[in-house]
Amino acid sequence: MIKLDNFSSFFVANWKLNGNFQFIDQFINNVSLPTDNSKCVVICPTSIHLDYMSKNKNGFHVGAQNVSEYAEGAFTGEISVHSLSDLNISFCIVGHSERRQIYREKDKGINLKSKRLIENNVIPIICIGETLEHKEKGITKEILEEQLMHSIPSSSSFENSIIAYEPIWAIGTGLTPTFEEIDETHCFIREYNEKFNKYKILYGGSVKASNAREITDLSNVDGALIGGASLKSEEFTKIIGD
Ligand code: PEP
Repeated sequence: MIKLDNFSSFFVANWKLNGNFQFIDQFINNVSLPTDNSKCVVICPTSIHLDYMSKNKNGFHVGAQNVSEYAEGAFTGEISVHSLSDLNISFCIVGHSERRQIYREKDKGINLKSKRLIENNVIPIICIGETLEHKEKGITKEILEEQLMHSIPSSSSFENSIIAYEPIWAIGTGLTPTFEEIDETHCFIREYNEKFNKYKILYGGSVKASNAREITDLSNVDGALIGGASLKSEEFTKIIGD
């Protein structure tokens, strides 16, 4: 398992349902990795492209976007943690809001997926976040507490898991909380349970070249999860910095 403490910051590119072999080749040629090797840059392509990305990673780390909560069996179309291990995949996003909202994933399943990943030395990047409605009702903290309590397995620790705070209203919208709000929410997550104090906590939601530095420099932020902007080589190179 990757030693998370070896890195000062993490930049996770979530390509969602985008990219192909040609795109990967161009991306690897065009994106310069930071000279600072304490920055961990993780690319999460589609499942079909994990093998190709893994064989051509050229200094990038590779992550999956999802895994089955089942180890094996009659689950057509699912991808098992053993398949990820076979490809030497180091990270896996779990509980992304698109999975929670479109595919109705619940905390219990996210907990099980994370548990399986940890057992197999793959680091889950466990996503939590509130909707705009939650924010407007002033119940963000209650929602995050609920997600933290139920989606993070007891086997999770700062050494084998990462938390990603992604306000759903900020994903793909160009909107972001203020820097103070981001830092305050990350601080809340750290303090919610003593166990989370040393976790790497990433921020996700409309991170781009113009705000990445200020966000990732916040004292309680250990990196970023990046969607749309991770598909643009030049923009992503600026985000990960030198
Ligand atoms: C995401 O989907 O996890 C994400 C952060 O997307 P975007 O950067 O496009 O808001």
